[in-house]
Amino acid sequence: MSIAAPLVDQFQRRITYLRLSVTDRCDLRCAYCMPERQTFLPRAEVLSLEELHELALGFIARGITKIRLTGGEPLVRRDMIELVKALGRKVGGGLDELTMTTNATRLAEFADDIRAAGVRRINISLDTLDRGTFARLARRDSLPQVLEGIAAAKEAGLKVKINTVALKGINEAEIPTLIAWAHGQGFEITLIEVMPLGEVEQDRFDHYLPLSAMRESLEQRWTLTPDDHRSGGPARYVTVAETGAAGIGGRLGFITPLTNNFCDGCNRIRVTATGQLYACLGGNEQVDLRAALRSDAPDAAISEALDVAMKIKPERHHFVIDKPGGAPALARHMSMTGG
Ligand code: SAM
Ligand code: SF4
Repeated sequence: MSIAAPLVDQFQRRITYLRLSVTDRCDLRCAYCMPERQTFLPRAEVLSLEELHELALGFIARGITKIRLTGGEPLVRRDMIELVKALGRKVGGGLDELTMTTNATRLAEFADDIRAAGVRRINISLDTLDRGTFARLARRDSLPQVLEGIAAAKEAGLKVKINTVALKGINEAEIPTLIAWAHGQGFEITLIEVMPLGEVEQDRFDHYLPLSAMRESLEQRWTLTPDDHRSGGPARYVTVAETGAAGIGGRLGFITPLTNNFCDGCNRIRVTATGQLYACLGGNEQVDLRAALRSDAPDAAISEALDVAMKIKPERHHFVIDKPGGAPALARHMSMTGG
């Protein structure tokens, strides 16, 4: 496929990866992500399925080769599977990969269709295997459905990566158990530092766990060997000799936006469910793609908007969680921008 003009920002980073949020709504209320009484967008403001599809095609025309559908919880959007099917048809014909991040509460219902549409790998967020801790953290007693969803994904032949936000005093002690469980299932697992995005009830400082400390503690227990694997993102990997299967170490990733950012290799941009393109997860630089979509010449307007995005993408984010009571770096929740 010939690409009009690839997306390259002012720091010479080639942008090939789009995270597309299909809704800001969610059936869970993870305490670090959003408040219990989160105000969601009026449905009229959210892009229609056709608009999301058209937008995605505009990105593919400019050299985006990987799309991750996210939210909010993508699977709470009723017509979502139709978008997966439509974009799945581009895999191998413009797209190298279509994937999704989900909390898995509804995955049991959709795993087979997602796989049949052309999705091969999926990220599932899971912070604990303890039902009580899950119910307190996600403020919904949904662990049984989540585990059913994970089992269905595995059964459907989807390659699963577990994402776990490491939280001091909440799942810190359980992290070795989670790693051993994930590797035992044949899944990769990546640990993530909590980021100061959007107001929540708690002070994120109270539960912020620097992964440098977590890694040291895991090294006391297991043999961690640095692994060159790169997913084109900020994760850095090790293999854990003791938890893999058949003599192959299990892969463990660390995403450390606070202790060590890897913005120099950033290849991604994000679009909200209302069509706002955010050039950086940690910044307010944005371009209105909904206006472009609804203009008289949408193809040209989207392409022009993407050129603007390349000019405003910042060099790096500036997250810190260094003292109690600190304000979030941004008012926007991760569920808005798309994680
Ligand atoms: N609902 C889906 C899920 O949870 O997988 C997709 C959207 S969610 C916003 C995507 C990821 O962002 C999840 O892995 C979640 O744990 C993570 N996340 C949400 N808020 C975060 C924060 N403040 N800091 C770090 N990670 C966060
Ligand atoms: Fe929902 Fe995902 Fe945020 Fe949890 S992390 S509240 S599942 S959007």
